[in-house]
Amino acid sequence: MKRLSILGSTGSIGVNTLDVVSHFPEHFTVSALAAGKNLKLLIEQINRFKPRLVSLETPSAARELKNCLPRSCRPEIVFGNQGLDAVASAGDADLVVSAIVGAAGLLPTLTAIRQGKDVALANKETLVMAGKLVMQEARKHSVTIIPVDSEHSALFQLLAGRGRRELQAIVLTASGGPFLRHTCRQLQQVTREEALKHPNWKMGKKVTIDSSTLMNKGLEVIEAKWLFDIPVPKIKVYIHPQSIIHALVEYRDGSTIAHLSPPDMRGPITYALHYPKRVGTHLPPLNLLKVGTLHFMKPNSKKFPSLQLAYRALEDGETMPAVLNAANEIAVDSFLKKRIRFLDIPLVTEMTMDLFKPAKIASLEDVLAADTWAREKAQAIASRLH
Ligand code: NDP
Repeated sequence: MKRLSILGSTGSIGVNTLDVVSHFPEHFTVSALAAGKNLKLLIEQINRFKPRLVSLETPSAARELKNCLPRSCRPEIVFGNQGLDAVASAGDADLVVSAIVGAAGLLPTLTAIRQGKDVALANKETLVMAGKLVMQEARKHSVTIIPVDSEHSALFQLLAGRGRRELQAIVLTASGGPFLRHTCRQLQQVTREEALKHPNWKMGKKVTIDSSTLMNKGLEVIEAKWLFDIPVPKIKVYIHPQSIIHALVEYRDGSTIAHLSPPDMRGPITYALHYPKRVGTHLPPLNLLKVGTLHFMKPNSKKFPSLQLAYRALEDGETMPAVLNAANEIAVDSFLKKRIRFLDIPLVTEMTMDLFKPAKIASLEDVLAADTWAREKAQAIASRLH
């Protein structure tokens, strides 16, 4: 029986994780849950999965939760950053699912690692911001990071047991999002509602917008570099609109090996929760005869400059990826609030990066300082564009 702590239990990944858990009551129990603001859903999760500890973002939400639950079935209730740390380090948990969105996921994920807990990692921002430090800490504490992102889960499975010297390249696939076939002119008119309609995946708002700009793939390139220790020139991206192949590995001998599965996050989540075992699931298997044809194309960096911004951040190195991440978070938030236009998202990110001189990362504080700096600058740039 594995005991789980779930950071971000009320989000898209959190809900899918608990769906998987509910199909394997003999394999998992839930020790602790952390949510942001969604009290209603958290209460349902508490009643169903009976965690002994839960966390909410604010003290007022924690108070409200206390008032909603009878004393007899009330878990310990905590809040804020300390609450997240408590959930990440819950004494009895064997595996921490890191599924908070954005930079808020970094500190609790590091806490889990420093407590020696294995991590099922969905929060890619953790590795984008501080990949080197996080992987160092994971090695130091003998922690396994099992990726949840479908592309990285695919690579984790494809690369198992292979020496890096055998590799020619790895390929991450991207659906291309809802605007794959839009012209630059059409992209100028794109609305928030259109951008939130992903063709293949149902996800949280931030990652859905990131998918529509291709920043999501950029963040994933950075995530892959740190997770698998692959040199950046060996990380390629193909657009593959069907989202059936999630990643490919090209070997030196001319073989290319691909990972295929239906586009359903419960697949990689099931794999991560059970790792290193593989189990039978209730999920429908892939039917390639139904899929019929698979297409691939090169990403268009003129229409979708965000992917190149991520490669540039990696090239500049050190704290630049943290700046890329923070500026993008501000830009996406401004777009969701209808303060800037779709094409302003990469513009805000690029203008923020242009103003920054990457500083060395000696400690986590350097990363957090770059994050704060970039948020302020990006906010100012976004309000000028408003
Ligand atoms: P959602 O927006 O759906 O969910 C985010 C979760 O984080 C919610 O539970 C939210 O709580 C919680 N949260 C946000 N801010 C805080 C905070 N400050 N303190 C505590 N909790 C907080 O995101 P997704 O599930 O879509 O994505 C989560 C992560 O997984 C992202 O990093 C994303 O890139 C990655 N990912 C997602 C995929 C997907 O299919 N969704 C696929 C691959 C990776 P509440 O709602 O209660 O406010």
